[in-house]
Amino acid sequence: STKPNDLESFWMPFTSNRDFKQNPRLFVEAEGMHYITADGRRVLDGTSGLWCSNAGHRRKPIVDAIKKQAEVLDFAPAFQMGHPLSFEFASRLTQMIEGFDHVFFTNSGSESVDTALKIALAYQRARGQGTRTRLIGRERGYHGVGFGGISVGGIVGNRKQFGTLLNGVDHMRHTHDMEHNAYTKGEPDWGAHLADDLERIVALHDASTIAAVIVEPVAGSTGVLIPPKGYLQRLRDICDKHGILLIFDEVITGFGRLGTPFGSDYFGVKPDIFTTAKGITNATVPMGAVFCRDGIYDAFMDAPEGAIELFHGYTYSGHPLACAAGLATIDLYRDEGLFERAAELAPYWEDAMHSLKGSNHVIDIRNLGMVGAIELEGIAGKPTARAMDAFKQCYDKGLLVRTTGDIIALSPPLIVEKGQIDFIADTIGDVLRTLH
Ligand code: PMP
Repeated sequence: STKPNDLESFWMPFTSNRDFKQNPRLFVEAEGMHYITADGRRVLDGTSGLWCSNAGHRRKPIVDAIKKQAEVLDFAPAFQMGHPLSFEFASRLTQMIEGFDHVFFTNSGSESVDTALKIALAYQRARGQGTRTRLIGRERGYHGVGFGGISVGGIVGNRKQFGTLLNGVDHMRHTHDMEHNAYTKGEPDWGAHLADDLERIVALHDASTIAAVIVEPVAGSTGVLIPPKGYLQRLRDICDKHGILLIFDEVITGFGRLGTPFGSDYFGVKPDIFTTAKGITNATVPMGAVFCRDGIYDAFMDAPEGAIELFHGYTYSGHPLACAAGLATIDLYRDEGLFERAAELAPYWEDAMHSLKGSNHVIDIRNLGMVGAIELEGIAGKPTARAMDAFKQCYDKGLLVRTTGDIIALSPPLIVEKGQIDFIADTIGDVLRTLH
């Protein structure tokens, strides 16, 4: 069974406390590259928690910063007042990327996505384009679990479960919709061709009704779907041509995962707005931030005529502990050169991933930066069963991987050593050899 309460494949938010001690996979401690289980085993973290502990676990400078802040100021209201760390952190974040003059603090990726969509709609209205209310996402995109994120998200089951969500949402084809490796077979314009699917949607409606397009630079949690060359640039060009805002959801690709500060740096394509979370505090204190291109944020703060007050924000936006953790995190990324380290390790990672080519059941291997995916042939009528089996066997051998559908997804902390990369590949290789 894959029901969320099943102790074997359980999903913590849905699990009642009753039986928790029988769960075979409880983490009670973490350190660097490892989790330590309730029964005292060390498990190598091949997934940075949930693509978030980019600098590894329980890093001292971050722990110290959180402790220090907790002893001084536990909370400050985010409206009408503030505290210095939130301004300092916002300013440091905007210095990490040129052309973005504001960040808006949230507490998660889902909140960042909803905020980004709202900023896009508000910006269009403020510049006299109030008819632009449609939003465009992409199939197999994942944008969290808020109503906005589900609506633009590409997980059909999530959309169906709740019926019609936001009005006027369309979905582009995902980047693996057609023969996804065709561009490597000598079709240099493949990416641009795929992005032209946006033109199909624009033609269905009218450009003057479309506010924004949202995509992950690399779709992460639906299986590491890497866009073909030219894809993101063509999306950018089409958006510019039609006055549509381009939003990147960088909740996974932000903070070094691809060997650059952000995914936009890796691909050399700038969005108008982008979301972050996860790695922003190295997953210590929950936080997210939405980055706005110069000039966009001001429009967001421009109240419609007749409005008595304008409001968007969360109680915990810019929480002192999160800001302290965030500042220590970006210092650590910088001091240890972790983004550069990720770029340097990427070729070794690529070789390790591709050493699994030809293994039992493997139908595709994908990698980029320090992300990887091993796609397994599914068992007819039992989607996810084979990958779940692989997950359990890896876990028993001391390796934590993530599965999504029949895909094993990997994103180790950027402090990973080459020997540990070998261990990841060898362990998965061993598991695949005997996997039914
Ligand atoms: N967007 C993307 C691209 C994500 O990968 C995720 C989480 N995996 C989210 C949004 C949602 O983030 P959260 O779970 O923090 O709400």
